[in-house]
Amino acid sequence: MGVFVIAFCAFSQFGGKETKKDSYIKYVEFNVTRSALQAAVDLDIANRFEDSRVDFVTLLACLGAKYGGDFSRYKYSDMTELAEQFKSGRSEQEITKDMQYYPYYKQAYSAVLGSMVGAYQEGGEGADPETKYGVRWFSPIAKGFPYSAYDDFGAVRTYGYTRPHLGHDMMAAVGTPVIAVESGIVECLGWNKYGGWRVGIRSRDKKRYWYYAHLRQNRPFAEELSEGDEVTAGDVIGYVGRTGYSDNENVNGITESHLHIGLELVFDESQKESDNEIWVDITALTQVLESHQSEVCRNNETKEYYKKVEFCEIN
Ligand SMILES: [Zn+2]
Repeated sequence: MGVFVIAFCAFSQFGGKETKKDSYIKYVEFNVTRSALQAAVDLDIANRFEDSRVDFVTLLACLGAKYGGDFSRYKYSDMTELAEQFKSGRSEQEITKDMQYYPYYKQAYSAVLGSMVGAYQEGGEGADPETKYGVRWFSPIAKGFPYSAYDDFGAVRTYGYTRPHLGHDMMAAVGTPVIAVESGIVECLGWNKYGGWRVGIRSRDKKRYWYYAHLRQNRPFAEELSEGDEVTAGDVIGYVGRTGYSDNENVNGITESHLHIGLELVFDESQKESDNEIWVDITALTQVLESHQSEVCRNNETKEYYKKVEFCEIN
């Protein structure tokens, strides 16, 4: 709790007098559970035609403020009661006016969840694209490929130096297509002695850095993918493997093939590669995305996989 309070004090909008360089969030724990996230997303989508928007991030931020970020206290009735208030036309300002830490949670959860829900167009194979509203992010594992996952965020890793495991592992066979969760720009692509072949993609709003690691030996990335490229949510970006834990490139140093996926929040560029990086637990998020997987097809000549259905967000 101590860390949280310090971080909050550094958040200028509400402190008033802090200098600009300190006016960004320094610390976030994302403890929203799968059921809370799913309920918020479902309520947002179900009420999309109503006059008063029921925004999923706003719902979660209200409950974050109510629970002090501890979603083990979550009750579905809290969520539905809150949604009713928004549906009745009460404003966000009015509903949240006594929630001291609401502004912090709104900014923190907005950074984590960004544009996960909204309008998009989907269509393919000659069909006219259809405009829809719903989940716009995809599971990191392509549709139809088996995988299993467990929550070991924060568990200790000892290769190189002792450190917490700041990501989520999805166990899958070598060659399983890896999907871009969110649209963005390829910020780094290549070898890292811990992550092996890895690709880092920055969201368009620059707040999220998605890190996909331990990709396949020899052919880790989608064909011709390189730094600076734009990728769209649902695109194949690479293949599951077991590279890493080696100073030498292209070495299979991991025993069990899996995708390591991490999400770093960037409120200020100085945080990106620093001692104060903010990595959040995306276990619940990947669980909710299980029901939104990208369908792929294989080019038998190149043996590469491609996204089957065209997709683009509408802002
Ligand atoms: Zn991992």
